[in-house]
Amino acid sequence: MSAPKYLTGDVPAINEFIERFDVFLLDCDGVIWSGDHVFEGIPQTLEFLRSRGKKVVFVTNNSTKSRQEYVKKFTALGIPSDAEEIFGSAYSSAIYVSRILKLAPPKNKVFVIGEAGIENELRSENIPFIGGTDPAFRRDMTPEDWKGIADGSLLDPEVGCVLAGLDFHINYLKLSHALQYLRRGAVFLATNIDSTFPMNHNFFPGAGSISMPLAYMTGQQPLALGKPSQAMMDAIEGKFQLNRERTCMVGDRLNTDIKFGIEGRLGGTLAVLTGVSKQSDWEAADAVAVPAFYVDKFSDLGAAAQG
Ligand code: PLP
Ligand code: CA
Repeated sequence: MSAPKYLTGDVPAINEFIERFDVFLLDCDGVIWSGDHVFEGIPQTLEFLRSRGKKVVFVTNNSTKSRQEYVKKFTALGIPSDAEEIFGSAYSSAIYVSRILKLAPPKNKVFVIGEAGIENELRSENIPFIGGTDPAFRRDMTPEDWKGIADGSLLDPEVGCVLAGLDFHINYLKLSHALQYLRRGAVFLATNIDSTFPMNHNFFPGAGSISMPLAYMTGQQPLALGKPSQAMMDAIEGKFQLNRERTCMVGDRLNTDIKFGIEGRLGGTLAVLTGVSKQSDWEAADAVAVPAFYVDKFSDLGAAAQG
């Protein structure tokens, strides 16, 4: 594998890089923002790419928000956006359920472990669900639960799929229900399987830490609908009619973003150093993925605006 090309400060190389692509798939946390803080120069950089006729698609593994909620976040951060150019793992999961799984009665409900973003995207695809943020599932187990889950009387016979994303209220009750649905043959999906996510200069348990206990219990792995899963790439390709050769994935994390672009055989991958992965990560002998290009920060591409 050849070493990635460093673009920061090299205006001719940046221009050449930009000309190679029509579409930029942009990871969000670590590229556009860190938590609720937008990186300097990002609105201008996006404006610059758009002025050069480039399409940008925001591709995030964070399933806690729906596309509509992301539009609100982008607006609050001063970035013009449209729900149609946002592709989150909650949306990716919902369209997988409606367009690929095509669950039909009598088993067309989804048991959700996760936050409102997943529920809102399922609603937008008219998919019935239970669980999620329902307070009935945010509590301790009672003796009736132990009995009714075991004999099936408390289970919904219409559940045909378990979808697990990040759930800040994960508990034994939800895991017990999910286990039974999986034992009864429900399809096992995960919005994404990130081990951790970055927050406040540290890491917290990611969505994978919610679904992996179920994988351990059942011996089955979930199909993940977030980066680096190619199920997500296929869904993006279907929606935007991507020419993969003319598409570049931009991200901060080797094992999600860069791997996603390489395994998707995109024309390019660009790593930024404003997030999780560091240069030493791709220089390591056991690097999980090596980007084709890298910059210190995404807004470094804006240097070509003057050139
Ligand atoms: N999942 C959660 C819950 C997150 O908060 C984040 C980042 O903040 C991510 C995943 C990773 O998101 P992205 O793919 O935009 O880096
Ligand atoms: Ca990221």
